[in-house]
Amino acid sequence: MTILVTGGSGFIGSNFILNWIKKSSEKIINVDKLTYAGNEENLENIKDNDQYVFIKSDINDCHNYKNEFLNNDIRAVINFAAESHVDRSISSPSKFMQTNIIGTFNLLETSKKYWNDLSEKKKKNFRFVHVSTDEVYGSLSLDEQPFTENNKYKPNSPYSASKASSDHLVRVYNKTYNFPTLITNCSNNYGPFQYPEKLIPLVINNAIREKPLPIYGDGKQIRDWLYVEDHCNAIIEVLNNGFPFEVYNIGGNNEIQNIDIAIIICEKLDILKRRDNGKSYKELISFVKDRPGHDTRYAINNAKIKKELNWSPNEDFKSGISRTIDWYLKNQSWVENIYKKNQLLIIR
Ligand code: NAD
Repeated sequence: MTILVTGGSGFIGSNFILNWIKKSSEKIINVDKLTYAGNEENLENIKDNDQYVFIKSDINDCHNYKNEFLNNDIRAVINFAAESHVDRSISSPSKFMQTNIIGTFNLLETSKKYWNDLSEKKKKNFRFVHVSTDEVYGSLSLDEQPFTENNKYKPNSPYSASKASSDHLVRVYNKTYNFPTLITNCSNNYGPFQYPEKLIPLVINNAIREKPLPIYGDGKQIRDWLYVEDHCNAIIEVLNNGFPFEVYNIGGNNEIQNIDIAIIICEKLDILKRRDNGKSYKELISFVKDRPGHDTRYAINNAKIKKELNWSPNEDFKSGISRTIDWYLKNQSWVENIYKKNQLLIIR
């Protein structure tokens, strides 16, 4: 059988596909528009693998990929495709609405049409997994409990509002049409292949280029960091053993302030790659004007996925960040190619 993923050339999607090919013999189809965030280089090593098929398409252009549904025995769709950078959603929200809301709607429609015509047995086993974010729950104060699946939706940015809307659509497709969807809401991911506009790769790659390390506001915003491989393993659990119509929160149990992230990375780099001037990379940290509507804190309660699917993260932040820094140090040509292609696009 086959699974179809969208947005598989981005950060989490490409880690998912590489992980899948390592662990499974099942075919995997990737539908990706290759926006600035999609990178064919991420999947260079498997591009000729018979198990992998790439279709360059917007998820809104269903005619480009609907035949893949019909011609393959697809048992599941996993929707990673999204515009994902909060800063960009503030300056240009329109694409976020087009992809995250309308795109999810079109993908749901195409998938449901295919599912409707399946045999009863295949219908029962089919899954549509929608990958979403903890940002839909809004911001926590320091003394509030981490988000559970029962928290109210209170998005604060155009990005989180568009993801919240897509989650509602996914919910509607199961409540109204009995279409077997599952939603995952995860915390901030980090690891290999993350576009260098996001905090962790931005700090690593600016530091080794002796560029300022911009930190929003006072840097005290807290995020719960999840190593991308742990996230991919959680999605596989949800896909294979999750209960249709359920929502699962996925977090890394690593609540850390942004400023501390920068300091940890600098201290590791001080050991791994000493600066010529002998000073610490910490000297490059510079505080910049805060992002409008910047959420104070996100934190995830993992109890449900732990109890029901026996999943918990393997990496703590110490081990995950070491793996991540090592990866970026060894893959500077990947980073340089992105800078060359998208020099003007790196925001912040
Ligand atoms: P990313 O920005 O790195 O990758 C997104 C991918 O989607 C890219 O390959 C892009 O080309 C593709 N894409 C964008 N618009 C498309 C469209 N209209 N049609 C087809 N493909 C399109 O994002 P990511 O960090 O890998 O995130 C993947 C998913 O996980 C997203 O849905 C995001 O909201 C969610 N998520 C990410 C994080 C995180 O920390 N990165 C945290 C929580 C949730």
